[in-house]
Amino acid sequence: MSLLIDRSSTQFEYGIDSPEQMQRWLEKNPNAIGACFVGRSNVGKSSLINSLFGNSTARTSKTPGRTRQINIFSFKLASNNQEETEELPKFYCLDLPGYGHAAVSHKMSQNWEELLGTLFNKYPLGLTLINIQDARHPNQKSDVAFHQYLQSNLCETFLVFNKLDKLKTQKLRSALNKQKPSLFKQYKWVKQIHFVSAEKNTGVTSLHDSLISRMMLMLNFQE
Ligand code: GDP
Repeated sequence: MSLLIDRSSTQFEYGIDSPEQMQRWLEKNPNAIGACFVGRSNVGKSSLINSLFGNSTARTSKTPGRTRQINIFSFKLASNNQEETEELPKFYCLDLPGYGHAAVSHKMSQNWEELLGTLFNKYPLGLTLINIQDARHPNQKSDVAFHQYLQSNLCETFLVFNKLDKLKTQKLRSALNKQKPSLFKQYKWVKQIHFVSAEKNTGVTSLHDSLISRMMLMLNFQE
């Protein structure tokens, strides 16, 4: 594949913290193409975003006050054939607030639901939803709850199991291998399943290439 995410083009565009702002962005960008990242807090979402989009991308989302926002970044694709990228639009990366905080207040989780409810209500189909889970502990209660919440929404999803490098022993790796058939069955509606380590950059290139293929497909589909 000759197209790459141009990591130097990534820009923070908006921090969205109200359903009204979300609604306005969706009305302006119904055909947005890109990716939308979501997962349990601490699963390595920021690390994965950084490894795909450039090292300081998700630092913005870690600044206090922004962790409960939807942070929107724009990015471009690069190619060694300039003609290939000249006509391409701006793409988007949405960084969703983490779910499964043990300590969030009722009001905070209500805000999360309202914000995400607004997004999923008019979800741009060009945004591949990337759900990150921990390869050591797949399918936690909050992951299951999130997928139940998603069932009624038609978004193409990639499931990404992160922190693969933490499975250091053969015993841990075979425990995951044993779980794979039931995970694949449970998540059979998911488009792709990836196993990565954001920290060691394992499997990230394959995820990157799959994402770009899907973005190009959506672009051709919209034209
Ligand atoms: P977020 O809350 O989901 O955005 O998670 P972060 O990206 O901030 O990561 C949480 C912690 O997990 C940090 O200490 C990261 O360094 C670590 N981490 C993230 N990805 C990996 C990984 O693939 N392997 C290992 N060993 N640690 C990781």
